[in-house]
Amino acid sequence: MINIAIDGPSGAGKSTIAKAVAKKKGYIYVDTGALYRSIGLWVARKGIAKDDKGSVIAELGNITLELKYVEGTQRVYLNGEDVSDDIRTPEISMYASAVSAIPEVRAFLLDLQRDMAKKHNVIMDGRDIGTVILPDATVKFFMTASPEGRARRRHKELLEKGIDTSYEDVLADMIERDKNDSTRDIAPAIAAEDAIHFDNSAEGIEQSVSEMIEIIDKVIEAKK
Ligand code: C5P
Repeated sequence: MINIAIDGPSGAGKSTIAKAVAKKKGYIYVDTGALYRSIGLWVARKGIAKDDKGSVIAELGNITLELKYVEGTQRVYLNGEDVSDDIRTPEISMYASAVSAIPEVRAFLLDLQRDMAKKHNVIMDGRDIGTVILPDATVKFFMTASPEGRARRRHKELLEKGIDTSYEDVLADMIERDKNDSTRDIAPAIAAEDAIHFDNSAEGIEQSVSEMIEIIDKVIEAKK
């Protein structure tokens, strides 16, 4: 199977680029952040505090997650309910970042992610795909962009979804989340040693997509 890993901080454009590459190459795009967000949503709905690790861990036994693909788009099901839209709020972003630092949460999601990669050609985006989930991925990318550029992109996305928030709040949340994600003890969001660093600050989407496909094709050809 072809397994492409894309890691990097939030808002670097991983999902936009990965979705487009998946479409062109016929891979399944797996958004792993949606899994952490779904656990965050469950915990938030239960009224559990973000930092109450014991209660978060105790809830894992009550959670079943499934990924389904509807016309090529990923939908995530939390105990049978499609929560794909509900997980995209700033509040749930912060919950996701908090629960994702708990080792039991990461262990809980490991098999689901690896199974997808075993069964399908995937392009999987997250924070630890190249380092932990798919250490033998065909190609690993670590995508970055400036914090301001990333916050602008996220802010625009939120406004388009009707979520009213300021650019300053988005930037502050993003900086806090990056700090949580990159300094945590378990599976920090860092580049794998063999990852290709991909700066997505300046380029337009089309150019990034074709550049990435070019790299993927070269690696696959070289491995034949
Ligand atoms: O990618 P997204 O912004 O949707 O991820 C939400 C949060 O989930 C991240 O801030 C990060 O804390 C966590 N996450 C993770 N590992 C992944 C994907 C997401 O820790 N593979």
